[in-house]
Amino acid sequence: MNALLARYAAKLAASGLTLPGGALIAALDDAISWNMENDPRQALMQRLLARLNCSALLLARPTGVYQAVMASLARRALLDGTHIIAPGDCETRTFLHDIPVVRGLSDRGMAGALARRKGCVVLDDDGAAHVAAFGAVSPEQAFVTMSSLCFACFVAYFAAHLRDLRLGTMTGERREEFARTRSLLPPERTDRPALAAGPFTSEDAARAALIQAGRATVEYGLVDSSFGNISYRLKDGETDTILISQTGSSLDDLAACLDPCRMDESSCAALTASSEYPAHKAIYEGGAARAILHGHPRFAVILSLDCERLDCPGQGECHRACAAPRRVADPASGLDIPIVPGEVGAGPFGLCNTLPPAIRGKKGVIVYGHGLFTLGAVDFREAFASLMDVERFCREEYFRRAAALGGEAAGEDSRASSRP
Ligand SMILES: [Zn+2]
Repeated sequence: MNALLARYAAKLAASGLTLPGGALIAALDDAISWNMENDPRQALMQRLLARLNCSALLLARPTGVYQAVMASLARRALLDGTHIIAPGDCETRTFLHDIPVVRGLSDRGMAGALARRKGCVVLDDDGAAHVAAFGAVSPEQAFVTMSSLCFACFVAYFAAHLRDLRLGTMTGERREEFARTRSLLPPERTDRPALAAGPFTSEDAARAALIQAGRATVEYGLVDSSFGNISYRLKDGETDTILISQTGSSLDDLAACLDPCRMDESSCAALTASSEYPAHKAIYEGGAARAILHGHPRFAVILSLDCERLDCPGQGECHRACAAPRRVADPASGLDIPIVPGEVGAGPFGLCNTLPPAIRGKKGVIVYGHGLFTLGAVDFREAFASLMDVERFCREEYFRRAAALGGEAAGEDSRASSRP
């Protein structure tokens, strides 16, 4: 068990959410196992475990940009009296609901928050943010909550900055803080992974390509490992099958989590296949694509939440029904990515209805507040390149919009552009 806990802690550090040693994870069996011994937080965790009915508990101190955005959001949530961070993205809506904020590292306050939600943010006496999360049955649940909380707070911070600039409610203090936060962003990766060349004609080759592309998507920070999905249409002679990741599987560990579903539906592991299987199937039926990749790249999600129509009567319902056609477009490179509403799954507002018609003839589509779907004609090289290209453009476009709205008094770009 200790090795498993250590692996989750190492994954958090590898994805830049904590420093090595930043996460303490406990699993409760006959005795308590830890991912590391002699950590001063163990006494607090033991008191917290005694108050909760759970099998695993995580206490982590986020680092870098995640520390900055969480501490800022938590400070504001305590100041305005809501004690809640309420991001507008899909992971939060479907998985976290909202994020309670607790003042001080006390087992009583944290137990109260964890009685209501899977995880909470704690602001300690020195103003640093921590995350507490539990797993009802497994330590993996606590790990997933920690990753999702970091993603949600990142999105919430940058989306709120742009919205408050548009609303004219930005303060000088927050502008300065924003410049500091921005300087903590990890540099963007520009190198491309070496992915297998298609078309793949055997199930083994397709499986290997899916496993490889899924792992690269997580490694490049384009999705948290337990979200996103991926599929390949294997079409050769009599064979016409979609190989798709299972719902809830980790994109960086797909070896045992790929379901074959025949296009004619004569056999399908539909019970375990991704909840977005109907959307994948409809996309394959409507076009020539052979590969679909779906990630949650941060700035694509943030930009999809940005809307100029401040008096829109549909506010709050954007993820279900947005009447205004929207897109992310770069005339210079020809990039043209529609943004569509769509809920997870197959309901009346499901993305299985909105996504397939929008993606026809496009490289990809952003689902509002949720993530990006991209296509490959024969393999994942094209789909992965589009995922990276769209995210890079969205990141640049985000800071262009922020600068145009006067959001970065001390930012790098405004300093550079004011030089003669
Ligand atoms: Zn998704």
